[in-house]
Amino acid sequence: MNEDRFELTVLGTRGSMAVSGPEYAIFGGATSCYQIRAGKETIFLDGGSGLACAQADFPHPPVVFLSHLHLDHLMGLGMYSRLSARGKYTEIAVPVRNGEDPAALLDGLYSPPYWPLKLTKYAGDVRIVPLRLPVSVGELLVDGLLGCHPGDCEIFRVSWRGRSLVYMTDYEPGELTEEEAIAFAKGADWILYDGQYTEREYLGKKGFGHSTAECGLRFMRQCGAGHMLIIHHDPLSTDEELLRREAALGLPEVRYARQGDVIRIDG
Ligand SMILES: [Zn+2]
Ligand SMILES: [Zn+2]
Repeated sequence: MNEDRFELTVLGTRGSMAVSGPEYAIFGGATSCYQIRAGKETIFLDGGSGLACAQADFPHPPVVFLSHLHLDHLMGLGMYSRLSARGKYTEIAVPVRNGEDPAALLDGLYSPPYWPLKLTKYAGDVRIVPLRLPVSVGELLVDGLLGCHPGDCEIFRVSWRGRSLVYMTDYEPGELTEEEAIAFAKGADWILYDGQYTEREYLGKKGFGHSTAECGLRFMRQCGAGHMLIIHHDPLSTDEELLRREAALGLPEVRYARQGDVIRIDG
């Protein structure tokens, strides 16, 4: 790729669990994983099953930032080919509370009997570190804010040369955090917003930690963002349903994320 770009690739945008079948051909079935490249740097936001198909070679070693530890955001880590490539360094930044050991948290899933091998035992040079924000990866700056979700979930703001995107997966608007979230996302070029439910579905799913495209739209306007990608599609939402919702919104600046989308953030 042209290294003078700030670019997002959607590797997986399904929420809760992976799905497959012809009814998911357009939006994809892999769970949350987003690749961001800027200059020589690469980061991933979340390690859902979309990470299993990510490329392994980059000019500089990538960092995988995990928003939280729900399975749909971790299930691709064990199958990411770079972790098995001898001599290749990969960092995984894990949100921790109360001084927990970040490697031990991932071992809870990636160790027998649930998985054959701990990630740190793979042939690659895998380092699991506590997530500490803000942090710089070359010229990329990653900042965070805790959002409203069962067990918490980090909202990320990723900036490069004056442009930025805000990643709000697994986010439910809550009165306490909403104003802070608006301030945090102010003026972003792109917002990736959890729109798993319709307004009607949401009435029966309050407290599940997800939101709607309509809430995203209000949020986008309140913080003056330029564009929005609706993410974290429900496993039951088929292509037909998501296309219908997208058409009903009818806004060129709002798109339902499709697995495989490549978006210039600085474009
Ligand atoms: Zn999720
Ligand atoms: Zn979650």
